[in-house]
Amino acid sequence: MRRVLVTGGGSGIGRAIARDFAAAGDQVVISGRRLDALEETDDGRGMECRVADVTDEAQVAALFDKPFDVVVANAGIAPGGPVAKTTLEAWEQTLRVNMTGVFLTFREALREMGSGGRLIAMASTASLQGGANIAPYVASKHGVLGLVRSLAIEVARQGITCNAVCPGFVDTEIAQNAVQNVMNRMNLDYDTAASKLVGRNPMKRMITPDEVVAAVRFLASEDATMINGHALSVSGGEI
Ligand code: NAD
Repeated sequence: MRRVLVTGGGSGIGRAIARDFAAAGDQVVISGRRLDALEETDDGRGMECRVADVTDEAQVAALFDKPFDVVVANAGIAPGGPVAKTTLEAWEQTLRVNMTGVFLTFREALREMGSGGRLIAMASTASLQGGANIAPYVASKHGVLGLVRSLAIEVARQGITCNAVCPGFVDTEIAQNAVQNVMNRMNLDYDTAASKLVGRNPMKRMITPDEVVAAVRFLASEDATMINGHALSVSGGEI
């Protein structure tokens, strides 16, 4: 039985990942800022729910009182808007959650992670290409991929792998907020706004959380021992 940590486990992709590991019989710890959301993810599955903000160094360190075999750094935010209207506070907060949060999570994970360990970052197609009106998000997700590629080389001799999953537009709360932003900014109805965001995916539909889970499950598996420093695009061919 593996010990697995999923940050941002109280909703969306993180919730789906945590439930998948739990269903496979792994010992799952989920972390996030709200205990009630974490408990909703657990819903009687026997997960351990731990409150921790990924931007808080001490709170992240406290999660690693025992070592993990698999660590999924999934927590993230995606505020939208043009660069010209982005405040310094919004810029710094996005980098802090999406990039520094992954750094803190992986750094603490490494203190006691043994051979066979798996570090998996929830990156994005925004790690691999630019996009209008989401510059802080894109910058933070490019940063995450830089961290993953560098760390992969550092840990390779320890039998640990470090990889990034790069989804396109996945149907979760973040995606629904992005649709709402486009509706407000361009004065569009829901379907038109959603189709603009989905438009980059050649399959022309939102990705399901379970389609992202499958990539995480693979990277955490024995089958992926030689895959390291990789950005696995789950985007229907967008990348
Ligand atoms: P979501 O909003 O449901 O999940 C994000 C989770 O992170 C939430 O549970 C939130 O509470 C948590 N979180 C935010 N700030 C935090 C902090 N400071 N400390 C701890 N937890 C915090 O959205 P999601 O779509 O499930 O996003 C999960 C990850 O997937 C994110 O990193 C996101 O960037 C990435 N992603 C999402 C999409 C998409 O289209 N939905 C596409 C590519 C990548």
